[in-house]
Amino acid sequence: MAYVTHIKKVNPDLDYKKLLNNKVIKEGAELLKKGEVVAFPTETVYGLGAEANNSEAVKKIFSVKGRPADNPLIVHIADQKQLEKVVQGAEVPELNKLFSAFWPGPLTVIFQRQKVIPDITTAGLDTVAVRMPSHRVARALIARASFPLAAPSANISGGPSPTRAEHVYRDLKGKLSLIIDGGPCEVGVESTVLDLSGSGPEILRPGAITGHDISAVLGKPVPSSRQAEDNRAMTPPAPGMKYRHYSPAAPVILVHNCQPDNLKNYIHSRKPKEPGLIVSTETAQKIRGRGFFENFKIAEMGSIKDLSQAAHNLFACLRNMDYEGVDYIIVEAVPEKGIGRAVMNRLYKAAEEEVFLEQFDKKEGDR
Ligand code: AMP
Ligand code: MG
Repeated sequence: MAYVTHIKKVNPDLDYKKLLNNKVIKEGAELLKKGEVVAFPTETVYGLGAEANNSEAVKKIFSVKGRPADNPLIVHIADQKQLEKVVQGAEVPELNKLFSAFWPGPLTVIFQRQKVIPDITTAGLDTVAVRMPSHRVARALIARASFPLAAPSANISGGPSPTRAEHVYRDLKGKLSLIIDGGPCEVGVESTVLDLSGSGPEILRPGAITGHDISAVLGKPVPSSRQAEDNRAMTPPAPGMKYRHYSPAAPVILVHNCQPDNLKNYIHSRKPKEPGLIVSTETAQKIRGRGFFENFKIAEMGSIKDLSQAAHNLFACLRNMDYEGVDYIIVEAVPEKGIGRAVMNRLYKAAEEEVFLEQFDKKEGDR
């Protein structure tokens, strides 16, 4: 079925009571109650929501995105009461500490599921992933609908996640009727996924809330799964990690040690194709205005001194390069610490090649 897609703005700073009674939030909740999908902002990325307990509605999420059926969805809740309806074992003592530290916020937790959650939502697993978003528009929409929402990122499967309403429109226009625009997403990368369903806590996907943050709250080390640890591993433990992911149409080359000379030599080696460059503010300052780089599209991810900027800008930068139609995209690697781990995790999955530019240091000289 073809839809006319509307982007409708909601001011997230409205008083919460006003948000709950906002016309667009009400319209979104009505559509969800009818079993439709609605795109909405969260603090991580834009989500494509449907009632988590309604198999037919959740089926639409998979078809709208083209998402493989074996990739389970995260269930989004507005308050603690909704949690008990969807999971078993929410009485784990560690949880109270985690909830008070990180919920609402960009932390997804995996629990044993309740039977009400249909197989399609969890891709047949006995566990369910749950998150309580902090974005006020997301909370108001879920509260107004009065049921939990299954919601993956609102992009065509395999592409970069959307961090602006326009990104959702570009990907899904004609496939849903409402995109709620709450402005740019603050965090910019998807939630941290923490598995509490097994013998001990384990991080399955890095995000803004780091292993260090979680360990500090739990008072013990929290390991990352092999997949989250080794970004180049080929056999992922969590479903959904085995597919092409976060990739724009143009091939992404992840480059380490970006200095103006070796970068120039590398680009020369790939002639006649021309790249778009996504680099740190520090690197941008070195290459902007230098003759060789003059005609290239250059986008700044942010300063390497504050990697939350890179997280915030990463997907928008990748998308903008595609919208500009560059031949390939060079992305500068960032340090894998703090939220930089989440940024690099996405880049390893998005990239077709990884290049260490040291080898281009002196080879070709200055041309
Ligand atoms: P997305 O909604 O696209 O950000 O993806 C959700 C992520 O959570 C995927 O990597 C899923 O594999 C993961 N996930 C969701 N539910 C589960 C679960 N029950 N067990 C393990 N991973 C899950
Ligand atoms: Mg996604």
